[in-house]
Amino acid sequence: MIDALQEGFKAFGRKMRGYITEEAVVVGVESRTSSPVRIPRNADTLQHPQVKGLFPCGEGAGYAGGIVSAAMDGERCADAAVKFLTSGR
Ligand SMILES: Cc1cc2nc3c(=O)[nH]c(=O)nc-3n(C[C@H](O)[C@H](O)[C@H](O)COP(=O)(O)OP(=O)(O)OC[C@H]3O[C@@H](n4cnc5c(N)ncnc54)[C@H](O)[C@@H]3O)c2cc1C
Repeated sequence: MIDALQEGFKAFGRKMRGYITEEAVVVGVESRTSSPVRIPRNADTLQHPQVKGLFPCGEGAGYAGGIVSAAMDGERCADAAVKFLTSGR
């Protein structure tokens, strides 16, 4: 775990200038950033391939890893649900 974190911090440091400093102390870590499972969904309709009208969405369904990505995925799924309800597709 320590080796992986050290490697990860160094990799971030190479991508984001100023990320690594001498001023931070790690006291606890999140070992996952999002759901370990993903409910399948069609890339065009955003519906489950077998369950019509089911829109797997957001973090729990495996399509987001934080507040902003969950919000954006929710917006896309809401649009897809409206399309489904109004046109049946
Ligand atoms: C401690 C912690 C810190 C975090 N910090 C950050 C951060 O700093 N930055 C960041 O970007 N992300 C952070 N996240 C992640 C972020 O909060 C989530 O990725 C995001 O909120 C997921 O949004 P969501 O809409 O997919 O799911 P959720 O926000 O979990 O929404 C799911 C909703 O469904 C409802 N629900 C569940 N079951 C049912 C049911 N049967 N019927 C009806 N409703 C139901 C729940 O009550 C909930 O309101 C953090 C998460 C945690 C736990």
